[in-house]
Amino acid sequence: MNSDYIKLAQALFPEVTLSPEDLERRYPPRNLPPTSEVTRLGPSPTGFIHLGNLYSALANERLAHSTGGVFFLRVEDTDLKRQTPGAVEAIINSLRYFKINLDQGALIAPKPGQIDYGPYFQSQRKDIYHVLAKNLVERGLAYPCFCSEEKLEEIRAKQTEQKLNTGYYGAFAACREMDLDKVLEKIASSQPRVLRLRSKGQSGLTFFFSDQIMGQVELPENFKDIVLLKSDGIPTYHFAHAVDDHLMRTTTVVRGVEWLSSVPVHRELFNFLNFNPPKYAHTAQLMKLDGGSKRKLSKREDPESSLDYYRQEGYHPKATRVYLMTILNSNFEDWRNENPSLNLEDFPFELSKMGNSGILFDIQKLNDVSRNVFGDFTAEQIANFFRDWLDEFYSQQTKTYFEDEQRLIQIIRLNQGLMENRKRKDIVCASQLKELLSFYFDQSFIPVFEPLKNFKRAVDILKDYLQSMGQTNDSVSWFDNLKSIGQRYNYFPK
Ligand code: GLU
Repeated sequence: MNSDYIKLAQALFPEVTLSPEDLERRYPPRNLPPTSEVTRLGPSPTGFIHLGNLYSALANERLAHSTGGVFFLRVEDTDLKRQTPGAVEAIINSLRYFKINLDQGALIAPKPGQIDYGPYFQSQRKDIYHVLAKNLVERGLAYPCFCSEEKLEEIRAKQTEQKLNTGYYGAFAACREMDLDKVLEKIASSQPRVLRLRSKGQSGLTFFFSDQIMGQVELPENFKDIVLLKSDGIPTYHFAHAVDDHLMRTTTVVRGVEWLSSVPVHRELFNFLNFNPPKYAHTAQLMKLDGGSKRKLSKREDPESSLDYYRQEGYHPKATRVYLMTILNSNFEDWRNENPSLNLEDFPFELSKMGNSGILFDIQKLNDVSRNVFGDFTAEQIANFFRDWLDEFYSQQTKTYFEDEQRLIQIIRLNQGLMENRKRKDIVCASQLKELLSFYFDQSFIPVFEPLKNFKRAVDILKDYLQSMGQTNDSVSWFDNLKSIGQRYNYFPK
């Protein structure tokens, strides 16, 4: 190794005593069969969970669990500005609600005897990133950069003017070949700095790779000296991804398509760090139909883009899962029709069957799935779900609906229709059920016949109907009753 680089690494990271080999020993390869997949969810704790996150989470979970692997949660909290208190708990809660089970990760206690691949909060892994950053500097693959924001802006303006790629590279990378003494002086006087990759890529070359969902992908090779550590020593997403997914032994990275263009940078990083790269599977965007054309499901415009929406509206988690499976793998629906008695977990999920461009999210379709899911439930099961939902969102109304639980169950049964083998499938979600049932629970409801005096005959019929009908009528006696009212008013010949 070049002694200048060693000197530089020591000046930059005097506190680092561990080596990459120490980390390899601390986080050995997982003891799993070679076909088992290790996947992870890496949310930023911003408080908002997009439906797209659930879509990716389900793909991750299915991939891990259908291969006997591990699915873990890593919190990507390196951007301190974007954090919301309680956000991690909310993520875990949501995943649990939708029955997306995590095996390991943030806020999940490791099982006894299990190797702990944590910490799972990136904010607690600074010392790990620094071990590997130091090693890159020692090998001449990373260097400190002291350029100010103004200087970077100047470079950008020049590049734009000359119609060149913007970024820190080649002749524009002023700190790349800086004299060691000068660098050491700047470090000694604590000049603000970042750490950059010394890219070996070339502008104009193409990088090829195979994505598990997108297929063969061609992208420009990376040639920019991207930032690895920010001025506060915190890693960028790129560096943290390479370090964490290697040391946590992720086998397939399933993440949103917005990261696809970063793969050349990530592969260069894995290469420099002497890590085997994971497989990548980039999930397509969720879209919705808007006035005949498709557009991205947007956080700002579409309430249904938030996971909270489905909980607040009281969609059953099974309906959401089943619907997501139908958009995850297009053969799922046929499989389900052919195997009605099997569990969703028995479906042979495949990444390669996932859509690779704009996945249409259709809430009407979700509603249909939901009607079927509720349609298969007993009135008691629906009542239980309804009670939990009321407790969570309208606790002061639980008493109204559940004062006489048996009556509520009877009413739900009535709404399901009385024919056991041909139940009505009207229930979409708990909020709609609440509306549907409110009619039966309005204690102040007094029928007012006065405005109907011009319709005396109709009012008489209704009064007769009201008197003669009981909640326990079955379909035959109900119809007989109706016929006899009809006959009384001469609607039916004798
Ligand atoms: N923190 C990244 C995000 O929220 C995760 C990307 C990844 O899964 O690697 O977009």
